[in-house]
Amino acid sequence: MGSVKTLDIDNWRKKHAYSEEQLSLAKIVLEEVKSGRRLDRALRSHPDAEGGLLAKHILIAEYKLLVESGEWQEDEELLKRIRMKPVRTLSGVTTVTVLTKEYPCPGRCIFCPTENYMPKSYLADEPGAARAFQNKFDPFNQVHSRILEYEAVGHPTDKIELLILGGTWSSYRRDYQKWFVQRCFDAMNVPAQGEAAMTGEPEPVGAPTPAEKIDLAPLRSRHMANESATHRNVGLVIETRPDEITPEELVWLRKLGVTKVQMGAQSLDDRVLELNLRGHDSAQTLKATALLRAAGFKIVLHWMPNLLGATLDSDRADFKRLWNDGYAPDEIKIYPTQLLESAALYKVWQKGEYTPYTTEELIQLIADLKETIPQYCRVNRVIRDIPSTHVVEGNKRTSLRQDVMLELHKRGKTCQCVRCREVRTSKVDVTSLHLDDLVYTPAYAEEHFLSYVTPEDQIAGYLRLSLPDTQAPKLPMADLDNAALVREVHVYGQSLAVGQEQAGAAQHIGLGTALLKKASEIARSKGYSKLAVIAAIGTRKYYESRGFERGELYLVKDLTKEL
Ligand code: SF4
Repeated sequence: MGSVKTLDIDNWRKKHAYSEEQLSLAKIVLEEVKSGRRLDRALRSHPDAEGGLLAKHILIAEYKLLVESGEWQEDEELLKRIRMKPVRTLSGVTTVTVLTKEYPCPGRCIFCPTENYMPKSYLADEPGAARAFQNKFDPFNQVHSRILEYEAVGHPTDKIELLILGGTWSSYRRDYQKWFVQRCFDAMNVPAQGEAAMTGEPEPVGAPTPAEKIDLAPLRSRHMANESATHRNVGLVIETRPDEITPEELVWLRKLGVTKVQMGAQSLDDRVLELNLRGHDSAQTLKATALLRAAGFKIVLHWMPNLLGATLDSDRADFKRLWNDGYAPDEIKIYPTQLLESAALYKVWQKGEYTPYTTEELIQLIADLKETIPQYCRVNRVIRDIPSTHVVEGNKRTSLRQDVMLELHKRGKTCQCVRCREVRTSKVDVTSLHLDDLVYTPAYAEEHFLSYVTPEDQIAGYLRLSLPDTQAPKLPMADLDNAALVREVHVYGQSLAVGQEQAGAAQHIGLGTALLKKASEIARSKGYSKLAVIAAIGTRKYYESRGFERGELYLVKDLTKEL
């Protein structure tokens, strides 16, 4: 492995800073603004893959590309309009993505790419990876520089969801994990001018420090400081494998402050899992989702069509298992297998034993799947953001989501997922909302997806209430004894600075409070004595002001006390 300095980072950024999907979205927004539409409206009509607003620097980059290529004339007025008006995040929360250090994941999955200097499965020119590399994977500098970038383009940064990516989180040494999270919190806790990076980084791999020797006191003090920090943490996400999820691991994740776990399910067909050398079976995925649910985590599953051994028909059948066989993820990322030279699958393809789907096949397949997504699930992605130059054969379009939406439109169908039903406007008439209670039964739980819905059938806010059944896995966390769980409260509206009011903005009409009240009523009526919420560090005070008390790892409300 060579030195990281051998990469020309400037050239790399210039070429690959933005994905084709981002640039094509930027062009659509620019065209609309050019023809007189307001910038904020155009941006809201074309959210990015994460559901947020496209950053202004992407608009400016696309504008420059269009001018440099001669396709567009210079337009000073347009440039001025893009640069003005601060824009806000659509979902009310700003996502900051950070990557862990390079690390050869113990998995051997044949579709997974490997690149020097990157954590397993990430390519250096994927969005987010360049920033991580530039910052030498230092968590403080990654978070800090991202916050500064957001502030520079007018995004509020008071509520941060931290998304930690990189191979398999659970297989990094725990002292490295703790250090990594601690440094992320340092960056959220300091004011904008920042501070120097901390030294004393533990090795990410090698002989692990025994858990009992890891001093969690410094992390706890950062957590406490974050409760009233400038940039409060409202969600902490890690990604790992199903076979890493154990009761003990979940206790550790709670100690770190994790609230959401992304897991690669990839397929629920054991034959396909084996052919692709996943190293776990579907039963382990089901067990992991049940454990995560019992501990109140939000569950994101990655699912991959077109794996070795799958067909269009077997993929359709496999997708149904997600909803019918007890997995029922809260969010899903559909990642069609992409044939990459650095993955073992490439050799299988060279021998003629693997065929990637065509773009048209994929569009038809995903459109079929999208029609069937239950209303409680959010589809975060329908393709991974890998620059198409890496794809050897098969689909190279990164704008697949728009293609699929177009296909659905042609069919006269819609997708009912959470993302497709989120309110798109900042104004919500609270008197027009009605409360919907969608009940479903994944393995070992009864779930209530409580949502406030507009007359146009858009979701203004929702809460995920989990009622574990008698067979649910038992976890060594006293907070959860005879507890119903609030796994997520999400109220839409433009993100506002703390304490700032905006008439009609969904976050400020008490929807969260009303949803919690309803959840308490349901849990009490079903015989639970407690309601435990998996509160992110920066939301603890919010729950405390709504009758919850601090437990050891959750915020807990005693349901026996209330009238
Ligand atoms: S577990 Fe994930 S990161 Fe590891 S090899 Fe498999 S796909 Fe890649």
